[in-house]
Parts: sequence; structure tokens; C-alpha cells
Amino acid sequence: MGDAQTRLALIGAGPMGLATAKLLVEHGIAFQGFELNSGVGGLWDIDAPRSTMYETAHLISSRKMTEFTDFPMREDVAEYPSHREMKRYFQDFADHFDLSKHYHFGAEVVSCIPLGGPDEGWRIVWRNDDGEHVETFSGLLIANGTLSEPNMPDFEGTFTGEMIHSSDYRHPTQFSGKRVLVIGAGNSGCDIAVDAIHHGASCDLSMRRGYYFVPKYVFGKPADTMGGAIKLPMALKRIVDGAILKWFVGNPQKYGFPKPGYKLYESHPVVNSLVLYHAGHGDLTIRPDVNRFDGKTVHFKDGTQADYDMILAATGYKLDYPFIDNALLNWQGDAPHLYLNCMHPERDDIFVLGMVEASGLGWQGRHEQAEMVVRYIKGLRDGAEDARRLQQTKAQGYTRATGGMAYIDLPRMAYYVDKATYRKAVTKWIARLGGQRA
Ligand SMILES: Cc1cc2nc3c(=O)[nH]c(=O)nc-3n(C[C@H](O)[C@H](O)[C@H](O)COP(=O)(O)OP(=O)(O)OC[C@H]3O[C@@H](n4cnc5c(N)ncnc54)[C@H](O)[C@@H]3O)c2cc1C
Repeated sequence: MGDAQTRLALIGAGPMGLATAKLLVEHGIAFQGFELNSGVGGLWDIDAPRSTMYETAHLISSRKMTEFTDFPMREDVAEYPSHREMKRYFQDFADHFDLSKHYHFGAEVVSCIPLGGPDEGWRIVWRNDDGEHVETFSGLLIANGTLSEPNMPDFEGTFTGEMIHSSDYRHPTQFSGKRVLVIGAGNSGCDIAVDAIHHGASCDLSMRRGYYFVPKYVFGKPADTMGGAIKLPMALKRIVDGAILKWFVGNPQKYGFPKPGYKLYESHPVVNSLVLYHAGHGDLTIRPDVNRFDGKTVHFKDGTQADYDMILAATGYKLDYPFIDNALLNWQGDAPHLYLNCMHPERDDIFVLGMVEASGLGWQGRHEQAEMVVRYIKGLRDGAEDARRLQQTKAQGYTRATGGMAYIDLPRMAYYVDKATYRKAVTKWIARLGGQRA
């Protein structure tokens, strides 16, 4: 079969799309990449149309634990680099592996419709400055990101001050002179609250639930590098990490933070050293959940109230695939239900890449996902026995790789996995499909 019959469409040139593109090239699989932005880097390009990055953002996972193994960051890059450094890194990655030539940039995929049953190909409509284009591909690789579509809850009442979602936050001067309320204390909420403390007139943080706080540094080293290659069972890991958190963080409840109603690692921990520091200095007031708005007054669920000029809702993101019918993604509940978060149970012509989150998965974890997928596609084409076995395995039904963890019931946890369980399963398939031994 010629390229025209087997060519795949790849959506996105963020970290996930780039890793996939590199692997497709390495395995000699023809594809066409589509990227809405004018360049690579995904949301790490703060100027990209779908970017939710802000000026002061840095990695929350450390450089060494995040980078692609076969493309380490330069030695002079900081341990927790800024988004600008990351944009440069992904540009370097694309240049090194000569990936840009495989993409149309400024090209948005607007619809993907199957031409018939599985494996009969896809009709893809995409648009750029020249207008709309229609093309046919044999399969679809979707790497359009998970953190671009804001999740904005409905609040009771009307707030007459300025209200934005964190996706619209770019620069701390947006807070200048304002009494700020940040709603939501996940990683973005806490990070942005620190900016509001420094630049606003005051900052309060409304929290619906408690979080575990992990400092960026432990014993002078990035916290996620502690433990090295030692892999503890979860029960033991909780005891060890819980003790470390007690030593380094103390008890956040003494500053008014609510106590988590779940165990460590049942939700994504907040990696932030500064928010507790500022709470300890009295520069941050912790508030409970919002009850209702009334003009510039916010009423909280504990009966207290306060006035604000600006509210920033750091209330997270929703998975969003506007160019395809969700039913084709085997959507169940809050997310597509896919084998190892990327493979359709019956179809071998559609893959979703990067729809995976885990504490410390990094880009290497995502690269492994792409490697499994690309080796699978290649294996099927070559008639490899282990590709057939994977095909049977995913058709027989599966559960998410949670490692038995009971994650808290939130949309953003619907595609969360246990890193060790997930990587073990993925690297096992990579090895069986002819990659390096797991
Ligand atoms: C503030 C912040 C801090 C973060 N910190 C970390 C961290 O420390 N460590 C970590 O591992 N992760 C972190 N993340 C998570 C981040 O999502 C990942 O690092 C990574 O960017 C995900 O890569 P991706 O390629 O899946 O998605 P994205 O980076 O979102 O890239 C998706 C690409 O697809 C393109 N696209 C979307 N729709 C279309 C379409 N219809 N047609 C064509 N192109 C399209 C977009 O333009 C974009 O370029 C952070 C995220 C944020 C917002």
C-alpha cells in the first residue's frame, strides 16, 4: 500500500504531538501533522491561541523528572525552568528531530468523520488562512491537549467586579491594586494566588477541599527526585512521604487550610513552597467554598463574607474534542474510556495521546505512551503477533491503570492513573512490540 492509503493525521504539536511525530518518523510511518499555532510547543508557547500559560509559570515537576530521556535539557537550564525555557526546549526538540516539516502550522482541524466502519479511513476538514481543506487519512492521532478548555462552574448570584478564569490570566499586573479572590487551590490556583499576594491589594483563597502540599525542595533537592529508583508499595510510600511532608510542610491546617478528606495521592498534590509561606506571614486568607455573589460581595459557606474587586476562578479544565463525535472516542462519564488511556477497544484507526495525568509522569511518561501506540500501529501493519495480542487484550475490556487507588470523584481525576502501574503496563507492551526491555 502506498503512503496515500496509509497516511495518518496527527493533531497537535505540543509535547505529546512532537513525541508522537518523532516516533512516527523513526518507524517510517507516513503522517501529516496539523497545528493551530504558528509553531511548536503547545501550551508552553504563551502566545499560542489555545495556551493557558501565564508569565510567572515554571515547571512544577523538576527538569530531570520531566524531560524526554533521549533529549535532556541543557545543563544551564534551571531545576524548575520557566515556560519560556520550555518553549525553547520544544523548539530545539523539533529542530533536532527535524519535525516541523511534517506539520501544517496555522492549521486547525475542524472535523474528523469516519468514511465507513473501522479501518475504512477518515475524512478530515482543516482550515488555515487559505480557507477550508478536505483530506482523507487512514487513521487519526489526537494530541490536542487536556488543559485548554476552561471549566467554569455556575455560581449563584452576580459578581459585579472583574471575573476571569485562570485560562485568561497572563500577567501579575492584572491584579494591580485589586482585592483578589482566587477560587480553587489546585496547582494553578496556588501559583496564581502567590502572584496576587505580590501584586494585588489583598488575596484570599477559596477552597472547597483540602490538599496535600509538597514543597519544591526537600533537603536542598527537587522533591520529586527524592527516593531515586526506589519504588515503594503505595502503603509504605504514603508513610514515608507523609512523614517527609510533616517535617517540611508542617500542618497547613494551622494557617486555615482545610484538612484533606482523602489519603495522600488520591488526588494530585499541590507542589508549591510559597503559598504556605505567605499564609504563615498573614498575607493570604483561606476561605471556604463560595455560597453566592452579591455585587462585589462574596458570601462563603461558613456564613462569612468579604468584598473583592476581582475573582480568578482556578477551577480547572474540561476534556474537549470539538472536531469529533465523542461516541467515536468511547466516551464514558467524564472522559474517553480507552485502553491505557489512548487506545480504542475496537478501532485501530484512532488514538488519543496525552489524555493521561499522574503525579510525576513527565514528558517521558507521555513519550512512552506514544511509543506503545506507534509500535502497535507498525506491528499491526507488519502482522506482528504481539500487536495482535494487544489488539485482543484491549477488545476484551479493561479498567484504568489506577493501581487500586480510589481517586477522588472529580472530572479532572477521570483520566488520572497511578504512575508506576501505568508505566509498567506501557513499557511491557513496548518491550513486547520490539522496543527496549521494560
Ligand atoms: C501552568 C501549567 C503548568 C504545567 N506544569 C507542568 C509540569 O510541571 N510538568 C508536567 O509534566 N506538565 C505540566 N503541565 C501540563 C501540560 O499540559 C503538559 O506539560 C503538556 O503541555 C501537555 O502536552 P500536550 O501536547 O498533550 O498538550 P498541549 O501542550 O496543550 O498541546 C496541544 C496542541 O494541540 C493544538 N491543537 C489543539 N486543537 C487543535 C486543532 N483542532 N487543530 C490543530 N491543532 C490543535 C494546540 O494548539 C496545541 O499546540 C502544566 C500545564 C500548565 C497549564
